[in-house]
Amino acid sequence: MKIICIGRNFTEHIQELKNQITGNPIIFLKPETSLIIGRLPFFLPDFSQEIHHEIELVIRICKNGKRIEERFAHKYFDAITVGIDFTARDIQNQQKEGGLPWEIAKAFDGSAAIGEFIPLSKQEEEHIKFSLLVNGELRQNGNSSQMIYSFSKIISYVSVYFTLKTGDLIFTGTPAGVRPVKRNDYLEGYIGEKRLLTLKIK
Ligand code: MG
Repeated sequence: MKIICIGRNFTEHIQELKNQITGNPIIFLKPETSLIIGRLPFFLPDFSQEIHHEIELVIRICKNGKRIEERFAHKYFDAITVGIDFTARDIQNQQKEGGLPWEIAKAFDGSAAIGEFIPLSKQEEEHIKFSLLVNGELRQNGNSSQMIYSFSKIISYVSVYFTLKTGDLIFTGTPAGVRPVKRNDYLEGYIGEKRLLTLKIK
């Protein structure tokens, strides 16, 4: 099982980090060991002073495939949730300055929190509202309609390089509002009115 993540998919988030819009999705991977399983908390790692939350829609692959055409891509995922792409922003900035890969900033243990999956139909996929509350206050909200690259476009592009397998997860990018988390924060992730993720920071 692999976790594929898309970067820079929401214009306002690209602007808040002063990044450039690229012609194709930015892809990076997280290993299975990055997942937070069950109701475990997120433990702040000692190697970073600036861990940011990034709430994202996460889709689950339900069929193996490679070089999937965009028009058929909807057949390859059937469930969705919200997840948090935890990012060591201080380390990521150092890596970016050096032109180096992001893995140590993005793929460390516990860096991928996921909520409970719910079924997804093709009709819904273009206007899914999602949000993150931190300590009861709205911190990030987005809608799949604001994505530069749709789920289908992502699947088509990613599957040129990586064979997709049942159970693989794709984090589809975060909207604006990313901020550091601190000890004892309580995070809640929603799709519409459904709370699918709760997480304590330790
Ligand atoms: Mg992200």
